[in-house]
Amino acid sequence: MNPSPLGDRSETSHPFTVSLTFFGDLVFFLKRSGIGPTIQRVLEERTSVKDVIEACGVPHPEIDFIIIDGAAANFSRVLKENTAIEVYPVGFIPASFQSCPLQRRNITKFVADGHLGKLARNLRLLGFDVMSPTPAEDQRLLEFMQHENRALLTRDRRLLMHAVVRDGFCPRSPYPDEQTVEVVRRFQLSNSVSPFSRCLRCNGLLQEVAKADAIKDLEPLTRIYYERFRRCKDCGQIYWRGSHFDKLSARIEGFRAQFA
Ligand SMILES: [Zn+2]
Repeated sequence: MNPSPLGDRSETSHPFTVSLTFFGDLVFFLKRSGIGPTIQRVLEERTSVKDVIEACGVPHPEIDFIIIDGAAANFSRVLKENTAIEVYPVGFIPASFQSCPLQRRNITKFVADGHLGKLARNLRLLGFDVMSPTPAEDQRLLEFMQHENRALLTRDRRLLMHAVVRDGFCPRSPYPDEQTVEVVRRFQLSNSVSPFSRCLRCNGLLQEVAKADAIKDLEPLTRIYYERFRRCKDCGQIYWRGSHFDKLSARIEGFRAQFA
C-alpha cells in the first residue's frame, strides 16, 4: 500500500483489520488469486476503501455499491479502524440500497483493447460505437476513453484500475459472443440495439447509397441481384442484403434472446 496522503499517520499508528465481502460475479477477480469471497486485510495506516478493494484484485469500474458498517459509502471513504465492508457489482445491489449506484449505465460508446476485436465487431453489428485502435497501446486506449467519453473494454484488470478510468468493464468470458451479451447486460443496452447501422470493419456509420453510385464497386452477380446498398462513410465498404445478411440477422436474434 502506498504511503497515505490522507492525514496524520500518528492518529492510526496501530494496525487495524478490515473485512471485505465481495458479492455477485466480483468473485471472478478474486478467484485468480485463490481467495475470497470474504477477505481480511490488516492495514497500518488510513487508506481509502477504493485502494483496499483494488488491492484485492477488483477494479473500481466493476464496483457499483459499497456498504461500510451497514451504511452506503463512496470510493473516497477513508478507513481508519476495524471495519466490515460489502462490495457489489452492477446488478447485485441489495433491494434496501437501490439508490445512488457508483457506476453509470446506458453508455453506448466504447473503446476496446486489441484482444477484444471480435467483441468490437459484434457490438458494431448491434449498432454500438466501438473504437478498436491499432496499435492498442494502453495510453492510447486511455486517451480515446477520456477525450471521447467512452467506456473502456479490456480484460487487463490492471489497466481497468488506472486512476483515470471512469467507466469500464472486464468481460468475464473468454468467448466473444458471451462477452457481447455481458457488455449489453452490464450497460443495460438491450433497448438501444440498432443493427446494420455501423461498419463492422472500421466502426464508421453506414448510409444509404444509390445503386448507380455503388455499381462500379460491385461484383457482377451482386449488380444483377441486389438493388439497395449502404456504404461506410469512413472506409467506403459497401453492404447489401446478400447471403451474409441472413447469417448476421440470425446472430443478432441469437444475441437478443440472451439480453433479458
Ligand atoms: Zn468502414
